[in-house]
Amino acid sequence: CGIFAYLNYRVPRTRKEIFETLVKGLQRLEYRGYDSAGIAVDGPRKTATDVNDNAICLIKKKGKVKALDEELYKKDSLDLDEELSTHFGLAHTRWATHGEPSAVNSHPHRSDKDNEFVVIHNGIITNYKELKAYLITKGYEFESETDTEVIPKLTKYVYDNRENDITFSTLVERVIKQLEGAFALVFKSRHYPGEAVSTRRGSPLLIGVRSEHELSTENIPIQYNTARVQEKNSHNRPDCASDINSVGDGRAVEYYFASDASAIIEHTNKVLYLEDNDIAAVTGGKLSIHRINRQAGEDPVRAIQTLQ
Ligand code: GLU
Repeated sequence: CGIFAYLNYRVPRTRKEIFETLVKGLQRLEYRGYDSAGIAVDGPRKTATDVNDNAICLIKKKGKVKALDEELYKKDSLDLDEELSTHFGLAHTRWATHGEPSAVNSHPHRSDKDNEFVVIHNGIITNYKELKAYLITKGYEFESETDTEVIPKLTKYVYDNRENDITFSTLVERVIKQLEGAFALVFKSRHYPGEAVSTRRGSPLLIGVRSEHELSTENIPIQYNTARVQEKNSHNRPDCASDINSVGDGRAVEYYFASDASAIIEHTNKVLYLEDNDIAAVTGGKLSIHRINRQAGEDPVRAIQTLQ
């Protein structure tokens, strides 16, 4: 029932500081009600220099955020003092709709035992039974009773069946096209280290931005799938462009993804509210917004607002 995620890009944070930020974010959302909580962070490296390992570690607990908080410090394998210059962490408090409150049913949910894709979700996927039945025919084994688990598994299925390299954002676009119901989602992946994708339809989600620098733009033009825009509209220039259509210019920046502003306001008052079917992606520290289809009369930008 509460989503919180934190991305630090070229802002060194220890794992302990990251845990504290994630837990504080969940505590701000506690009033929304919940029965279990969980987080996903980058896992231990095999060796001190092994930065390509990209392991993701999930820690989930039934009950209060406080119980999760205590659990975080029990993992000997996670070095609390390790400094992570760029990192993306997810946190979730669950209000069970499908499947009883338990550690295995709590979020984040994962694509497979290697945690290739992990997802936090608020809402209900109404066509999860069909998706689950399909994925089972493809050999996927489910560990939870939730509707949510189809999402990371479908993401891996689409990823494994891609024909060319695709961006994290395009991958998520293909996944949400298959989903019915209500969702706010945040995705993390071993295949896209240091990158974040979040999207929503019917459930709330906003993004806070904090930077020591002037943000390169405060209006983010919406991007569409270039190939599709060209197909439909071959005489026009594709309106998917590169660098200018994003916030951040490769310098230090932090992003906060949350179900409501109360979890963000202590970090920054610069926020961007996602609209239905927006897909927000952070790559190389830059935030961009993508959408599936152009709607007639739609606002061509998402503005960063200053909360008072
Ligand atoms: N439907 C999902 C579940 O039962 C998400 C619930 C929520 O929004 O917390 O796990």
